[in-house]
Amino acid sequence: MSKIGFIGLGIMGLPMSKNLLKAGHSLVVFDINKAAVEELKQAGAEVGTSAKDVASKTNIIITMLPNSPQVKVVVLGENGVIEGAAKGSIVVDMSSIAPLVSREVSEALAKKGIRMLDAPVSGGQPKAIDGTMSIMVGGSQADFDEIVPIFKAMGSSYVLCGGIGAGNVTKLANQIIVAVNIAAVSEALVMATKAGVDPELVYKAIRGGLAGSTVLDAKAPLIMDRKFNPGFRINLHIKDLANVLETSHGIGVPLPLTAAVMEILQALKVDGMGDLDHGAIVRFYEKLAQIEVKHSEASAASVTG
Ligand code: NAD
Repeated sequence: MSKIGFIGLGIMGLPMSKNLLKAGHSLVVFDINKAAVEELKQAGAEVGTSAKDVASKTNIIITMLPNSPQVKVVVLGENGVIEGAAKGSIVVDMSSIAPLVSREVSEALAKKGIRMLDAPVSGGQPKAIDGTMSIMVGGSQADFDEIVPIFKAMGSSYVLCGGIGAGNVTKLANQIIVAVNIAAVSEALVMATKAGVDPELVYKAIRGGLAGSTVLDAKAPLIMDRKFNPGFRINLHIKDLANVLETSHGIGVPLPLTAAVMEILQALKVDGMGDLDHGAIVRFYEKLAQIEVKHSEASAASVTG
């Protein structure tokens, strides 16, 4: 069992760190949110006073932060991981950030003999709680092999996708598929509802066919229940698609569908929905078509009756 540093105890980091404790690892944690730190202390973790302090007390340091700027500050900034970590330590950044920033941070760490993996995740809070996230990793095979026992406590799948940055490239691909898929599900359900067909029956009829998807199964029931609490916030998906578009424009890859969904997300943000789940993409289409996708009275009765 390892002594692990964990920085970033938010929606994802909190349950991930608790799973590490459950698996028998000991933790030193840090977050600027004192309430989250207190919760981990109660669960048995040691509390660090800064990212530097966490790194000086551990050889494996996990970060789970919002985006590239926070990772740069926490790892490379004043009182950051780089100031406290010993030579040979390994930073495992599990945040979803721009792949180029992963490479930049890794290069700065390498100058001090500190290793790094980028290891973003997919699955959202429910899978972070269950310890069944999918983890996509970039870095060396040897570093990956060393960290696999730790990934096992948090995920049910962990794949080394290539060198440093490859984990975040894979995560960007994941975010394109999820965003475009939710938009397609939304268009389809709004169209069917306005055409007078019960969306619940549409869902039931198509989920086993080629149109079926994990996204359809995850989001269609929540849309019909009108449950838009996050989950995965629209603002976070905007952050990921901004990283997608910046990365792909930099390498000469036009992404027309992603760009269209990005504008839908921007419209929802302007409309005050940035903190809702990304399933609220349906509300953009609902406003255009002046209809709401929800259980019909007949299907509600058959569910309750
Ligand atoms: P979050 O905002 O809930 O948590 C981030 C945490 O980082 C917060 O507790 C915050 O206080 C802390 N933090 C920010 N700046 C800090 C600093 N300078 N020093 C120390 N702590 C700092 O975000 P989240 O939902 O847990 O997401 C974390 C990452 O995981 C993001 O990159 C996100 O895109 C990705 N992700 C999220 C989900 C999801 O469903 N929420 C799913 C997959 C991946």
